[in-house]
Amino acid sequence: MNSETIKKILGITSTIPIEIPIAAGRIVADLNNLFINSQSSEKYLKFAEEAGYPRTCCAWIKGIYGYVHIEQPGGMIFVTGGDCSNTQAMLETLIPELREIFIFAYPYPPDKAALKIEMERLCAEMGISLKQAEETGKRLSIIRKLLKELDILTWEDELVSGFENFQWLVSSSDFNSSPDLFESELRLFLDRVKKRNSRFSRIRLGLIGIPPVFSDFHDVVESLGAKIVLNEIPRQFAMLDTELDLVTRYHKFTYPYGVWPRIKDIAGEIEKRKINGLIHYTQSFCHRQIHDVLIRRELKIPVLTIEGENPSKIDQRTKLRIESFLEMLDNATEKI
Ligand code: SF4
Repeated sequence: MNSETIKKILGITSTIPIEIPIAAGRIVADLNNLFINSQSSEKYLKFAEEAGYPRTCCAWIKGIYGYVHIEQPGGMIFVTGGDCSNTQAMLETLIPELREIFIFAYPYPPDKAALKIEMERLCAEMGISLKQAEETGKRLSIIRKLLKELDILTWEDELVSGFENFQWLVSSSDFNSSPDLFESELRLFLDRVKKRNSRFSRIRLGLIGIPPVFSDFHDVVESLGAKIVLNEIPRQFAMLDTELDLVTRYHKFTYPYGVWPRIKDIAGEIEKRKINGLIHYTQSFCHRQIHDVLIRRELKIPVLTIEGENPSKIDQRTKLRIESFLEMLDNATEKI
């Protein structure tokens, strides 16, 4: 993205009802995606640490802070409820930098009426009605249907790799800032993959937790003979239940509402996708690491918990742990 375009964007810190800013004619960019896919991610982290951000602050927060300072997007929508306990403090350190600031907070505990009020508030701030956002929702549902097809081609037909699935679904938080282009590229991709031959794998894995900072996570796992048939959080970002109205759609979104809706969703997908084991990715210094306790206790299949800190390739120790986990799952599969 060039600097002129960056100045026009509204950056988001997490998945929001994107139908609202798009209906208001805004260009939206998920700063998590811009940070992690940038060649300069280290520069953004260093900038935040030199500005005084603690070393023990999560890399995603430092990365977004550094990105905003250096690249200067025109405005931001901060998710202050349901995403990250650090976002509000980051917002406070960024106030002088930004021309435009919007806030969105998912209600906790989940409450549909409260969510509707919050969505209407954001609509009003952006000068549109919820009805107009619903119309945009219908347009985006066409793309979400294609993403649903891609997801089925991943876990049922095994024509799409776990990495490709991850990339497409995680990018749907902002549709790469251009829903029309995203849709045409996705259609081309789907046409291409349907000509492939399926490669069925013995070990079927689910990746759960926030998107890993490891650049080669899926490559490493899939090169060891396993297949990632569920990318939990990216699938949530993609909102594949396309028949729902906007409020219901964002009410069913599990990510902002604590670990219990996620556990219920993952348990259903384990059954449906015939998953043998889960890799739970956790981020250093993230409050969500605590959820691991409940995930391990409640989900009745083997779970390997791994941790990452800064954007990098997988370290050797984590790779060895993944290898041993897959070996254990392979032995268990043989006995069935
Ligand atoms: S990984 Fe955790 S601490 Fe970091 S931004 Fe996400 S929710 Fe916040």
